[in-house]
Amino acid sequence: MHHFSYTGGRLHCEGVDLEAIASAVGTPCYVYSSATLVRHAQVIAEAFRGQRALIAYSVKANGNLAVLATLAGQGCGADVVSAGELLRARKAGIPASRIVFSGVGKTAAEMALALEQGIHQFNVESAGELRLLSDVAARLGRTAPIALRVNPDVAAGGHPNISTGKSGDKFGVPWGEAEALYAEAARLPGIRAVGVDVHIGSQIGDLAPMRTAFEKVVALALRLRGQGHDIRRIDVGGGLGIAYKEGDAPAPPSAYAAMISEVTAGHGFDVILEPGRVIAGNAGVLLATALYEKEAPDRTFLILDAGMNDLIRPALYGAHHDILPLAEPKAGQAQKTYDVVGPICESTDKFASGRTLPEVSAGDRLAFMSAGAYGAVLSSGYNARPLVPEVLVDRDRFEIVRRRPSFEESIELEKVPEWLTTAA
Ligand SMILES: *Cc1c(COP(=O)(O)O)cnc(C)c1O
Repeated sequence: MHHFSYTGGRLHCEGVDLEAIASAVGTPCYVYSSATLVRHAQVIAEAFRGQRALIAYSVKANGNLAVLATLAGQGCGADVVSAGELLRARKAGIPASRIVFSGVGKTAAEMALALEQGIHQFNVESAGELRLLSDVAARLGRTAPIALRVNPDVAAGGHPNISTGKSGDKFGVPWGEAEALYAEAARLPGIRAVGVDVHIGSQIGDLAPMRTAFEKVVALALRLRGQGHDIRRIDVGGGLGIAYKEGDAPAPPSAYAAMISEVTAGHGFDVILEPGRVIAGNAGVLLATALYEKEAPDRTFLILDAGMNDLIRPALYGAHHDILPLAEPKAGQAQKTYDVVGPICESTDKFASGRTLPEVSAGDRLAFMSAGAYGAVLSSGYNARPLVPEVLVDRDRFEIVRRRPSFEESIELEKVPEWLTTAA
């Protein structure tokens, strides 16, 4: 559920007409709904009431400071995968004690920063990382609380590119090596193993593969306890899917929470969740303006001012985003079928093929729905386009929470070496 709907013939975000934002900020731009972010955080918290659960929002889904501050206000922690995300989360007011650090490629400098901040848990993904973390912690006179991220060899996720829990994926410790690595962890001076972690993929609508993975993880955690390890936490990762189009019916947070409660019941584990998409996905849209209609022999291209550099999900994993005109279509309005594309010089710069929309004219504005997660965070400046700005709406007010950089700002980190500017 989200707070984008037609009111008085115009698409609104909460109480704000999106046309007003498009006019004030220019397109393309992202718009986020505070009420939707808050609602999603509350629905998840409500679903897990009665379980000891830390909701560590996955910053990589949408790391805008204002989004993080909104979620911090709801008591969310954070799951981070870099020093940059850790510093963002802290700056937005998320306490270090509610932050977990995931990712296969943590550097010694990132480990030191996280140890100095005093984060809740490192999710360690390899033997090499475990040994380095012990060294870094010992050097700082600290002990790193860790969970090993295990690879349960379970397939799941909306697309092969977002499945992470099969053997052969780069993520996690191979299932058969986990126990030996916990035994090594117990001997390392800078390490205290406190949990087991898993994250099998993203945009998962069916709870069955998650249940299979979590049952394996709980059984492993109990075996580890039997071997003398003080395992208190199960980190179930993120991955819960959302509805991108009519007919999508992903499992709701209530069913997800009930399943986790069943699987972990009676063992006194603290649960850590790392939801990303399910919180931010339907809380954002990308606004664009139609530039041209171009007829080809077998199709009509609708060319927008937004491109794959602004929203890469369709190009990266064939993702579907509903496209709504900001002006509500009238009953009986003519429809037309388009290939919806951007201005980027790449054939993959295509948002949709054969999409039937209410007929669009140059200058009309459109919204890509469900673009709040893995949207702006994956944007780039390809084709020397300025990074897309972001706007946060709260009831009837809005604020630009990342402005569009000027041309000068976009190039200010670059320089032409003197040898190119002085005569030989
Ligand atoms: C990406 C990721 C998440 C969040 O996944 P969603 O599908 O957005 O919920 C959580 N944990 C880890 C380790 C991740 O890599």
